[in-house]
Amino acid sequence: MLFKFDLMTPEQGIIDITKEVCQSIKESGVSEGICVIFCPHTTAAITINENADPDVRSDFVFGMNKAFPDDNEFRHSEGNSDAHLKSSSIGASETLIISRGAPLLGRWQGVYFCEFDGPRTRQFFVKVIRS
Ligand code: ZN
Repeated sequence: MLFKFDLMTPEQGIIDITKEVCQSIKESGVSEGICVIFCPHTTAAITINENADPDVRSDFVFGMNKAFPDDNEFRHSEGNSDAHLKSSSIGASETLIISRGAPLLGRWQGVYFCEFDGPRTRQFFVKVIRS
């Protein structure tokens, strides 16, 4: 089954979408399988990271801006090449194992939508596959 979600994003940030992933798996009725979370955007991404200390989220944004600073030598006319680099470095999707009707995540792991060029209305997909 395929599930689609819309979300409003900040200028930059990582948004916890673990609840939506768990909800999709529950609604699908799949207890053992695979789940793909996909972001159809070129300046956003999907990742798995710590869900305990909220400072990790702000440090993530801070670190990405340090790693991929804007540069006036970029040629892309939209002016968001740094966001495109961040998007590709993190990636457009994550794959999770479904076990006993829930995503197999570590105690401190959550699934995050990463915004690098907001604020925007964004979408992401969750595909649940029985196996
Ligand atoms: Zn662009």
